[in-house]
Amino acid sequence: MSKRALTLLHNELDACQRCPEMIGPVVHGAAVMSRVLLVGQAPGPHEGKFSKPFAWTAGKTLFRWFMQATGAEEEAIRRSVYFAAVNRCFPGKAKGGGDRRPSPPEIANCRPFLAGEVAALKPRLVIPVGTMAIAEVLGHTGQLTEVVGKVLQASYHGQETDVIALPHPSGASTWHKREPGMALLAHALEELGAHEVMRGELQRLGAVSGTA
Ligand code: SF4
Repeated sequence: MSKRALTLLHNELDACQRCPEMIGPVVHGAAVMSRVLLVGQAPGPHEGKFSKPFAWTAGKTLFRWFMQATGAEEEAIRRSVYFAAVNRCFPGKAKGGGDRRPSPPEIANCRPFLAGEVAALKPRLVIPVGTMAIAEVLGHTGQLTEVVGKVLQASYHGQETDVIALPHPSGASTWHKREPGMALLAHALEELGAHEVMRGELQRLGAVSGTA
């Protein structure tokens, strides 16, 4: 793994202006050398102010899920998991309300950054969060019920890895608040908390004990 490669990639990301309709600034997580790669969708309107992904309401839910899964606080998760995303800029608001869904060319524009991160980190656990990230990592565009709650295997940018998919923690989504979503999410969080690579990264930080 190469931290220098990640730092160079972040410099390139920070200067990126490939998508004329995207609204800056570019948002990315810290250059954390981790075998756990989380892939979000795109920042919302607030993340740019904090210069970190999942810094607003959806993040509160996501870190509550991580606490439930692993017992680790937000800062420990941010120091032990590498946070990436399908797109790194805020897409703006959609005409009908909510955030605009990035277009396929915008997703393609940002994909080389994900490929570079996979090459630098060689993750052994990937956590796609939300349908857009699940489509990017697994190529799955069907029902969430088909992929959430399982440990899947995938070849992602040439890297063989386990995948634990999560629904998007946005307050606008009701999927995880109703059955079967509630039970599938609970199962996914159990799998995440028990996963040896997730536990190994947290143990390295001393954020959890060595016993499952
Ligand atoms: S979304 Fe990605 S490719 Fe598009 S401008 Fe932002 S960083 Fe560049």
